[in-house]
Formats: sequence, C-alpha cells, structure tokens
Amino acid sequence: KLYNEVQDLKGNIRVYCRVRPFLRGQSEKQTTIQYIGENGELAVQNPSKPGKDTPRLFKFNKVFAPAATQEEVFLDTQPLIRSVLDGYNVCIFAYGQTGSGKTYTMTGPNAASIVDWGVNYRALNDLFNISQNRRSSISYEIGVQMVEIYNEQMCASFSLHPLCTMFFIVSFDLHTLGIWNTAQPNGLAVPDASMYPVKSTEDVLELMNIGLNNRAIGATALNERSSRSHSILTVHVRGTELESDGVLRGCLHLVDLAGSERVDRSEATGNRLREAQHINKSLSALGDVIYALAQKSPHVPYRNSKLTQVLQSSLGGQAKTLMFVQLNPDVQSYSETVSTLKFAERVS
Ligand code: ADP
Ligand code: MG
Repeated sequence: KLYNEVQDLKGNIRVYCRVRPFLRGQSEKQTTIQYIGENGELAVQNPSKPGKDTPRLFKFNKVFAPAATQEEVFLDTQPLIRSVLDGYNVCIFAYGQTGSGKTYTMTGPNAASIVDWGVNYRALNDLFNISQNRRSSISYEIGVQMVEIYNEQMCASFSLHPLCTMFFIVSFDLHTLGIWNTAQPNGLAVPDASMYPVKSTEDVLELMNIGLNNRAIGATALNERSSRSHSILTVHVRGTELESDGVLRGCLHLVDLAGSERVDRSEATGNRLREAQHINKSLSALGDVIYALAQKSPHVPYRNSKLTQVLQSSLGGQAKTLMFVQLNPDVQSYSETVSTLKFAERVS
C-alpha cells in the first residue's frame, strides 16, 4: 500500500477545524476566536461579553487559522485522498453554518484561479496525475459523479433540476474509454442521469464548472438553494493490476453539506420549515453515525437519513472520514459557532 497513511489514535475518523478570515468590509469587527494552538487547540469566546463569558476550549486533529491557504489545507488532506488509489473509500465533509466557508474549502471561490482551488479540484488533479504517472503496474479508470440531496430526495430533485446531476467518465487507457455502469457497488446509484465521457483533467474541471454554475443560476438567489442541499462529488477509481488482472476499487466522496444554522421555528413556515427539518434530521443523523463509529459501537444508525444511507459503504469499516468544521469568526455568529463546535466535539 503506497498511500496508506499512518493511522492516528482516533482510527479512521479525523476532524479539522478551519476558521475563515473576515471578509472585505468586515475588518473592524472583533473576533470570537481567542486562541489557535499548534496541536489542534482552539479557544472561542464572545468578546462582546467580556468577563461573563469564559473561553471555551476545543481540540481537533488540526486547526487552520484564517490565513491558511488552500494549498496548506490540501496538503493535510492529500494522504487520505491518495489512499483511494489503494482501494479505500474516503468521505470528506465540510460542516458549518451558511457563510462559514464550506464551499470555499471544498470548491473554492467562484471563478477560482488555480491558487484558490478547493479540495475537490486539487483532489481530482492529484488523482489524475498520480494514477497516470506513478503507477505503471496498475491501469486506472476514474469516473466522477455530482449529485445533490435536497429535502431527503436524491433522484426526484434531479429530474426537476436536470443540470444538478452530472456524470463524467474518465479513462486513461484509450482502449477502455467508455461509460461505466453507475450502479457501482460502493457508489451512488442514480438513474436517469446523463454521462459525459471526458479524457483529461481539463475536461472534468470544465464540466464541474458548468455543473456548479448551473446549480447557482438555478437558485432563486445566489447560494439560496445550495445552502439547503447537500452536494456530493464522488470520484470512483477502478484500478486493474496489469500482471494479475486483479481489480481495486476506491471511492472518494467530497461533501459540501447544507448549512447547519438553526432556523427560528417561529419564523419559518411551509417550504422553509420543511427544508430546515430535513437538514436538521440529516445532519444529526450524520453526527450519530460518526459518533457511533468513533465509539466503535456495534450498531451504526445509517438508515436515519438519505445522506447516511447513500454514503453507508464509505462510512465505517475500512473507510476513512474527514470532517472540516468551518467557523465564521464574527461576533454575530457566536452562538452558531458554539453549536458547530459542540457538534464537532461529539464526533471527534
Ligand atoms: P458556505 O459555503 O459555508 O456558505 P462560502 O464558502 O460561500 O460559505 O464562504 C462565504 C464567503 O466567505 C465567500 O465569499 C467566500 O469566498 C469567503 N471565504 C470563505 N472562506 C474563505 C477563506 N478561507 N479565505 C477567503 N475567503 C473565504
Ligand atoms: Mg456553500
């Protein structure tokens, strides 16, 4: 196993925290982030209540300060991503309230230049490069899917939003260039979705951009719907050992979760309330699954949400999980920051 990293004490689950910087025009504001340690310590405090509010301390596998670059974040994620080429299943989640930087971490800002690329572009690029260049004894094929879970539905919402779902198929070996059966044993089985054969990283990136743009344009307001749906980019890897004909399969799920913010029950009605209930249910189901895995509990409650059902084969067992816990440092976000950290504390 070339890319299997040394496992830490937490086994296959790790939690990174990333604090986003203040945005332009926000620079005057006070921060709730009191301390970031070298070894994953984080202290938060509400600065508008000095004295009364004692700092709260948390511990992660790693904390990325606001100045951390996309490159730095990726470097700490890369070993996990590469283990997919050894046949592991990997899930990487971004969790946090809307505006905390989930999409920035996973995808990058809109119209990102290479420097700003998020984890998903870098992951694909890395997997392509490494599988093409470094492992001549194995021939790899890579397929990419992009799906969305909205209101606990996967397929139905796609037929209403045809461009939310895209399948791309990539092969490095021109002889086998073709279309995969999407009902992969450890993949997401989504019927009725179009597939696009692509031949290079550039092709995939272009298609991803089309998908992301369409997702944004389809929403009534920018970021509206995307903050209420879970978006899953899945990279399927199939490696054939040239000498033995043995086949390796690995799967990487890159998940930009719906915003975790609590919705005021007295204000939300109708669709908005229903959305909020679905999000709440699926995020707590995800928390319960990761918690059960971390406790090595014999019963893992996968069936409680679409999200955990869909990702079941990539959560637990030999699979590896990484959660980015995203924080917005401003004072107005303090109570959401605390509830995000409590969620993280439970699963880490
Ligand atoms: P979310 O997906 O959690 O709703 P976004 O990723 O859209 O949040 O981030 C909200 C805003 O903050 C965006 O304008 C984004 O570009 C910016 N942002 C988030 N994280 C960073 C970062 N690490 N560096 C610079 N800007 C960031
Ligand atoms: Mg987002």
